[in-house]
Amino acid sequence: MFFDSHAHLEAHRHEDSIDDIIARAVAAKVTKIAHVGSGYEPAVFHEAVELADKNPHVYAVIGCHPHEADSANQETYAAVMKLLVHPKVVAVGEIGLDYYYNYSSKEGQRAAFVHQLEIAKRAELPVVIHCREAHEDCLAILGEAGLSSNPGIIHCYTGDIETARKYMELGFFISIPGVVTFPKAGELVQTVAQLPLDRMLIETDAPFLAPVPKRGRRNEPAFLPHTAEAVAKIKGLPVEEIAKLTTANTMRVFGIQAD
Ligand SMILES: [Zn+2]
Ligand SMILES: [Zn+2]
Repeated sequence: MFFDSHAHLEAHRHEDSIDDIIARAVAAKVTKIAHVGSGYEPAVFHEAVELADKNPHVYAVIGCHPHEADSANQETYAAVMKLLVHPKVVAVGEIGLDYYYNYSSKEGQRAAFVHQLEIAKRAELPVVIHCREAHEDCLAILGEAGLSSNPGIIHCYTGDIETARKYMELGFFISIPGVVTFPKAGELVQTVAQLPLDRMLIETDAPFLAPVPKRGRRNEPAFLPHTAEAVAKIKGLPVEEIAKLTTANTMRVFGIQAD
């Protein structure tokens, strides 16, 4: 059993129906999926909660993505706060900073980030962090946020072990994407080799970043076992063990009880 800690399942992002995508995931033993409904428009959050509400395999993560921070407004945050009470909403996200694309201003990104950390804190929920080329600012903001002992996930982590350790010191879990299967994943392979197993999650970030041998295709949760296999090889463990550990970690961070 695998838990995809981060996927985007909105209908418009996929060619097939969401029911088919989830059926293929379940057939591949990916029986739990955290769907990230992230944007600034309330419709995105509603779609995520509806999907999680009607599908036993899906959990929802909702929040304003740093790309859209400049468009966030009162309605964005009001909708997030209102929907966080739903039992299948397991985190606020993805939130954070992206200084690679800078689709929103740095000031706007930081403001939306800080505001949503506060919302998550008040709701007693963890956060899912997107951070690209902004680790220094991200760590500074997280360090000052007064987070709980279970603050959340650094998603799609591809950096070095030193930076990962700084996040882990704050209590974060590190989620490894399909990038670890790429031939040029040298640094990430080193990071995974040194990452403690009780801090590691795996994710597809579907529809992006499909792992080898599916690279170049539209990614989907059913491809997650390829990432698990790469991690298992690096760790010298059976893939079943990686599946078990990462699933348990993901359930722990999201506060999901075993069924
Ligand atoms: Zn992201
Ligand atoms: Zn994402």
